[in-house]
Parts: sequence; C-alpha cells; structure tokens
Amino acid sequence: MHPKDADTDLIPFMASITQQNTAIQLESVNKAYSTPNGEFLALKGISLTIQAGEYVGLVGKSGAGKSTLINMITGIDRVKSGKVTVDNVSVQDLDDNQRALWRGRSLGVIFQYFQMMPTMTVLDNILLPMDLCGRFQGRRSVQRAMKLLEQVELEDHARKLPSALSGGQQQRVAIARALANDPSILIADEPTGRLDNATAEMIFTIFERLVDQGKTVLVATHDNALARRVSHLLVIHDGELIQDVKSGSLVL
Ligand code: ADP
Repeated sequence: MHPKDADTDLIPFMASITQQNTAIQLESVNKAYSTPNGEFLALKGISLTIQAGEYVGLVGKSGAGKSTLINMITGIDRVKSGKVTVDNVSVQDLDDNQRALWRGRSLGVIFQYFQMMPTMTVLDNILLPMDLCGRFQGRRSVQRAMKLLEQVELEDHARKLPSALSGGQQQRVAIARALANDPSILIADEPTGRLDNATAEMIFTIFERLVDQGKTVLVATHDNALARRVSHLLVIHDGELIQDVKSGSLVL
C-alpha cells in the first residue's frame, strides 16, 4: 500500500457511532494472556471515553494493567473481546499492516525506554516516522523536525547521537518524534519512569503545552504526581477500571 492511500484505505474501518469529538472509546474490553497456569485476564470489561483535547492520566500500581490497556488503544496488541475506537477508527478490525500504518499516521506513542535508533542522529530519528508515512517529505520534513526540536528546546542537539543526550533529553526527543506526523492524539506509557522528579516535571509541562495546542494526551504512570495535573483521571486496579473522574470532580 502506498502511504498516500492510507487514509482512504481506512475508510471501511471508520466507526459510524462515535461522535466527532470522541478521541478514544473502549467498550467492554477484555484482554487475556496465555500463561503456563492457563489464561490470565489482564483487562476485565473496560469501558471508557476520552474526548478530544483532554489531558488524561491512567494510574495504577505496577501490574495493574496500564501497559496492556495502552497496547489495546495503540493496536500494538489485540483485544480478546470488546471494541476499541480511536479517532473514529475501529482498531480491532485492522490487520497488522493496516494497524502499523494507522498508528504511524494517527498516533504519537512515547515509551519508558525512549526507543531511539542508536546509530541515527537525533534529527534522523525524528525524520524516520515522516519518511515511513510520507506526509512530510524532503526539505519540508527537515524544517518540521527542526521546529519540533525547538518546541522541546533541543535544536542545538540535532546532529548528535541519542547516546550523547541525558535520559530527560532523549525523552524530549521522543516527544518530538511522536509529533512528527502531526497526530491529534499522544499516548505515553510510563514516560517518566526512568527520570528524576525535576525532569519528569518538565515532561509533564510539555504535555500540558501540547494539550493547550489542542492535542489529546493520555499518559500511563504509577507516578501520583501526574494525577494532580490532569483533567481526566482513570484508575486501574487488577485489570478493572475502578475510577473515571474528570476535573471539577477530582478529589485527590
Ligand atoms: P502495568 O503496566 O500496570 O504495570 P501490565 O499491563 O504490564 O501492568 O500487566 C498487567 C498484568 O498482566 C500483570 O499481572 C502482568 O504480569 C500480566 N502480563 C503482562 N504482559 C503479559 C504477558 N505477555 N504474558 C502474561 N502475562 C502478562
């Protein structure tokens, strides 16, 4: 499939029931892993709705099911049953190739371990998703990458290898890379798990700025400090959603 055909190829998977301002919707999502002791249910009947432009925190102890839930939303892994609709696309109906292309174009995903290509410069790491999806090309993509690096205050580091940067700097590069194809939704899985408190604050502040610019940001973390900053808090425990509160009703 040619990258430019991606949006039209996804049309059959557009969900008709979601409203225009719904960014992410899960309906009765179950996820099971096979283990030597049999099937382990890691997500149990999760239903939730995230509106466009919300800053959402997904919190819960280690092992609660945060990464599993994030992987259902990004289509990195498949549900056992239930529906996942992201940006009007029914994720569970896409095949592996379609999901990879859809993710690259529609979502910015940020991981705990930065996942930089170690032999490529910072600039080339940000250009890579643009090259893969074909939305920004040539000089336009370099200009865009430099602008994104400015947004995370790292424009002077463009020609360095990731290994020359601190953890916090690498995570800021990862945010710039996640924004490469201008997705409306950013999803981060424990983005500050390897960073000190001051650096984590900086990352959360960048997310706030992106929300102010109109992005939807979903951050999974076991760091309760984030819970105080978001406008919508989801609390997961043993694979169940035990709290779903929006600002105004947040009691922390
Ligand atoms: P969190 O991100 O909140 O730490 P996870 O989503 O990683 O939690 O894990 C939720 C539960 O699912 C945990 O009990 C974990 O051990 C289990 N789990 C995660 N991945 C697998 C897997 N690939 N196979 C079996 N069990 C898994």
